[in-house]
Amino acid sequence: MTYLAFLALCIVRPTFLWPMRRCPTGAAAPCPTLRRPFMLLTISTDHRPATDLGYLLHKNPSTHHRADFGFGRAHVVYPEASPERCTAAVVVDVDPVGLVRRRGPRGSDFSLGQYVNDRPYATSSFMSVVLGKVFSTAMAGRSKERPELVEQAIPLNARLPVTPCRGGEEVAHRLFEPLGYEVTAQAIPLDLRFAEWGDSQYVDLTLTATVTLKGLLEHLFVLLPVLDDDKHYWVGPDEIDKLLRRGGDWLSEHPERELITRRYLRHDRQLAREALSRLTEEELEDPEEAEARYDAQEQAVEKPINLNQQRLDAVLRAVRASGACRVLDLGCGEGKLVGELLRAQGIERVVGMDVSVRMLEVAARRLHLDTMAPSQRARVDLFQGSLTYRDARLVGFDAAVVVEVIEHLDPSRLGSFERAVFGYARPSTVIVTTPNVEYNARFVSLPAGAFRHRDHRFEWTRAEFANWCEQISTRHGYTVVPSGIGPEDATVGAPTQMAVFSR
Ligand code: SAH
Repeated sequence: MTYLAFLALCIVRPTFLWPMRRCPTGAAAPCPTLRRPFMLLTISTDHRPATDLGYLLHKNPSTHHRADFGFGRAHVVYPEASPERCTAAVVVDVDPVGLVRRRGPRGSDFSLGQYVNDRPYATSSFMSVVLGKVFSTAMAGRSKERPELVEQAIPLNARLPVTPCRGGEEVAHRLFEPLGYEVTAQAIPLDLRFAEWGDSQYVDLTLTATVTLKGLLEHLFVLLPVLDDDKHYWVGPDEIDKLLRRGGDWLSEHPERELITRRYLRHDRQLAREALSRLTEEELEDPEEAEARYDAQEQAVEKPINLNQQRLDAVLRAVRASGACRVLDLGCGEGKLVGELLRAQGIERVVGMDVSVRMLEVAARRLHLDTMAPSQRARVDLFQGSLTYRDARLVGFDAAVVVEVIEHLDPSRLGSFERAVFGYARPSTVIVTTPNVEYNARFVSLPAGAFRHRDHRFEWTRAEFANWCEQISTRHGYTVVPSGIGPEDATVGAPTQMAVFSR
């Protein structure tokens, strides 16, 4: 057992404890030799075999895992790992002095407050950031070794020995009980030696439920900063996406969703209003799923006929034929088409949107946005957003192109896509392309029945695409002209299908 695992066990199993001191604020310093207090979360299960927890968390129980952050270092260790019971401990060692040096004073005009504060041990947004990084795969609901367990509710217990709880223990009950947890929130006295001083604002929190591990991690990720009612970093509009990504499945039904949203967004009224309206009015998508990666696979399948270039050319021709001056590239990926549109004559403004920040970074690099001449730079913008949400930034364009994107959306999200693009943004022209699945038989490198890309949720026949296009045109007052891109085969048609909608 590593030293850290031993320390964690001291807290998980009080019987194991040797003389333990508490800081006046309630922070547990489990042994006199520990340099400073630390933040602790343990997750235990007695699901059999309990060591499956390691597979679910993507952290091998026999290894000591470390990850560095701007504010300190996080460790994941397993104080116990047997078939009957397994506990993973997340220990966060916050460097309070480094924190002040890097970020400047926060939250207190009291200068000593920069050094004497609860951040090193109170479970707060630091823990959320750590969970989001060290358990990102588990939170996304992926497990290579135990895929069947990901969706399975298992008995889980989370213990957070020093949890700030603004508003009192009752808030912990209000936040976690509607999610099915049995909650024990024991107030921690300000000082064990002076009972008359009363309780601190911290509770020793234990959450027990039969839930999926992904669910537990998401609940903690969102609700820890809510309990603390604070965040250690600046909160901007991208926090809404984070909130919806982690809370999408449960937040809209939560009776405290307003409190959660307000506190999570640090009481920024406008952000909270936007988040709530997105939560309650819109169908929610899982952007993790939507974060489709446009890697080399599809290009490799289609390369022999250089379909990518043919597609770009066909879409460009259609945009120019529409006479559009202001063009949106929705699901712009690495920005190839954005670049071509910028070079095309008559196009004044090009805006690329994608759900993936990573793709947008690639696009910005490829387009050399940072060194572009100011006049050129003023013509182009890239931003993150999801095609399944109504977005005011998409209104006021002449044309929108959606090239090889719809097949990355879950079929259940196509209705939201339709409402966001055809119902709300409503450009005069919408150009959509998608694979023609009938043509797949002609790709020699593609196994029978396989899609062209592993992230494709579907690939349609010509009849299926035509039917979808017809329904959209009827519902939203567009006319549609379908066509094919690439070599036309007498039996199976062209490899790519394109539809040009106009109104
Ligand atoms: N249009 C580009 C990229 C196609 S790959 C091209 O033709 O080269 C599909 C792209 O759609 C990816 O970049 C993916 O991140 C993006 N995407 C997937 N779901 C999305 C959504 N809900 N909203 C916006 N973009 C999405």
